[in-house]
Amino acid sequence: MDKLRWNPIQTTIHRIFHILIIMMLTAPAAMAGVVVNDQAEYEDAVANTLPGDVIRLANGVWNDFEIVFTGKGTKEAPITLTAEEKGKVIISGQSNLRLAGEHLVVSGLVFKDGYTPTNAVISFQINKEKLANNSRVTEVVIDGFNNPERTERDSWVLIYGKNNRFDHNHLAGKSNNGVTLAVRLNTEASQENHHRIDHNYFGHRPILGSNGGETMRIGTSHYSLTDSFTVVEDNYFDRCNGEVEIISSKSGGNVFRGNVFFESRGTLTLRHGNGNLVESNIFFGNGADHTGGIRLINKRQTIRNNYLQGLTGTRFGSPLTVMNGVPDSPINRYHQVEDSVIENNTLIDVAHIELAAGSDEERSAVPKTTRFANNLIYNRHGEDIFTVHDDISGIEFENNILNEVEDLKIDRGFTSRKIELKQLPNGLMIATNEDLEGIGASPGLKVLDRNEAGVSWYPKPAGKARFDSGETHTIKASGDGLVKAVAAAKAGDVIELSPGHFQVEKFISIDKPLTIRAAGEERPTIEFERTALFEIEAGGALKLEGLIIDGSSAPDSAGNSVIRTSRYSMLGSYDLLLDDCEVRDLDVNHSFNFLTVAKSTFAGRIDIRNSKFSNITGAILELDKEADDLGLYNVEYVSIVDSGFVDIGEALAVLYRGGTDESTFGPHFELRDTVLKNVGHNKRNKSASTVSLHGVQLTGIFNNEFIDSKPIRAMLTVGDPVTTISNNHFKSTPVPEVSNGEAVVENNKVTE
Ligand code: CA
Repeated sequence: MDKLRWNPIQTTIHRIFHILIIMMLTAPAAMAGVVVNDQAEYEDAVANTLPGDVIRLANGVWNDFEIVFTGKGTKEAPITLTAEEKGKVIISGQSNLRLAGEHLVVSGLVFKDGYTPTNAVISFQINKEKLANNSRVTEVVIDGFNNPERTERDSWVLIYGKNNRFDHNHLAGKSNNGVTLAVRLNTEASQENHHRIDHNYFGHRPILGSNGGETMRIGTSHYSLTDSFTVVEDNYFDRCNGEVEIISSKSGGNVFRGNVFFESRGTLTLRHGNGNLVESNIFFGNGADHTGGIRLINKRQTIRNNYLQGLTGTRFGSPLTVMNGVPDSPINRYHQVEDSVIENNTLIDVAHIELAAGSDEERSAVPKTTRFANNLIYNRHGEDIFTVHDDISGIEFENNILNEVEDLKIDRGFTSRKIELKQLPNGLMIATNEDLEGIGASPGLKVLDRNEAGVSWYPKPAGKARFDSGETHTIKASGDGLVKAVAAAKAGDVIELSPGHFQVEKFISIDKPLTIRAAGEERPTIEFERTALFEIEAGGALKLEGLIIDGSSAPDSAGNSVIRTSRYSMLGSYDLLLDDCEVRDLDVNHSFNFLTVAKSTFAGRIDIRNSKFSNITGAILELDKEADDLGLYNVEYVSIVDSGFVDIGEALAVLYRGGTDESTFGPHFELRDTVLKNVGHNKRNKSASTVSLHGVQLTGIFNNEFIDSKPIRAMLTVGDPVTTISNNHFKSTPVPEVSNGEAVVENNKVTE
């Protein structure tokens, strides 16, 4: 035994020697690392890594670089791939990053100006057998790294393996189909993974107009009874508007804590899987359309200490929704809500709380053994925001406080009284009534600042440049002058046209938000000699004010348009606003439209205000190019107000959204205070209507006069469409035809 006993001096010498060895092995590498200058040098470096090695990519643009990063680091000495200087290494073109191994760290890279040739930009695996574990991706930027074909599906981040961390990254502007970040549980090696996803900045995700626009998904229905144990903490979701699910949790044991959802459409949905915790999250809707909160499905879920304010969502997209389940549900349908808790949440000026939502013949299993307690619900005018769709005797209500609601819908567990609020410096409102201590979210609840998420060295966008935010350029009457002014203008600029005649000989390509308007009271006139006046390209948006647009000079061929979109897929959405304009004599040949769109293009908003259209052979708005019934459509909002349409051969508006998918909020259609006379009678009008709506989710047609025109036709499909047609006058015009559902059609006048 003596031989094994070291004396103290030997021990000390051994320790010093050991420390020296570690310093020699790791310290120099960690401080400097190897700078590699091209892909061949990178491959050499990565082939021979040892624990503690650091590979730095030289500053500059790396084009078409499919990075495979492998190695076996240790907890104390990971292997790092980083930039010579953070933010100065741009990965562009057909590029991606795949990691496999142990204790790998990636940081400081920027992916932009390109897209992945595979199904992910960053993947924590090379293939099913080679995964990354105990690894970290931090301070990486992915900015608009989109496949140019908006329907082509890919993800930006796929996390496999176990114990990985994805933190302080900046992911903004995903515009094509596919979830932004997914945690995959498809093999045992990726289940019960204990990943951490924290302090990321999830920037603006525009409305996709179909399923596949989630910002985050954890698991899939197939593995949803498996635990993931993923923590999603302190992330900032900035206008993540892709579809109805901002986050879709489809596995068990996940924690969603301390995240901020800023003006984001949709909800954090506990879609599949049990035993999840949603705690201390902040939802600020600021009244933006379809902003929602939390949707509860399944067993043993806890929703506590969350703060929700200014959310407008309805139905499944409500600020708080408790679903009905399907008895003995298949794994991909709706499991009954059981043994769940909703407590100490604060809801301020939110529009809806839905209980037993989705109740129908199939979804008949009502919530049970669930507790709803100590919640503070404040609506300034005393609105009762509960909607109860089925038997809620399985929910135990206790000690919830409402602000001055008369005639409470739920007669137990609620007290209505005057709640006094004050605003804290972090923007949260709390009740000042002393006897309300312990009700609602904790007054110490932290609000993550936008700057605490993502990276400090890459700017967070303020949203896309808006109309009228730039300089104003006034030009004299000349078609050439208009073409040149548009080409030279910057995003947000205004081009003012002096009175007179503008004869335009070329297509005018719109690839930025631009306003074109009359310089004064007198309306300038534009005529055009090509098959379209304006073509909206990727990034474009157009606002027209005070103009006369005349089709008389257009070529004598069928199918001209005043405005058309790019013929190719457009990633971003565009807006088209028309105010105080006159559009006339689009009649040189048949099928002359005001607007013609292509498949795989998407308008965020089309507004027509105070404008007159006359003598037109085609349609005004033909938005029906997504004919595959996949739940896609061409426009989110159409609004036509205070306008007139006379002698129009085809329809005023055709909107088509086919299929049964329920992942979108739109399209929306509004028509009011407008006169239509002799609209739709041309034999080429396939819709045989003035307004043809298929699958539109929200329709309002009010105070219009239809004279000698084709009828309105509405086909109600998908979800729970709301359609109101009221206070219209139908003169020598058939009454509206609504099929496949109920619409509110009332107070209309019908005369010969
Ligand atoms: Ca979805």
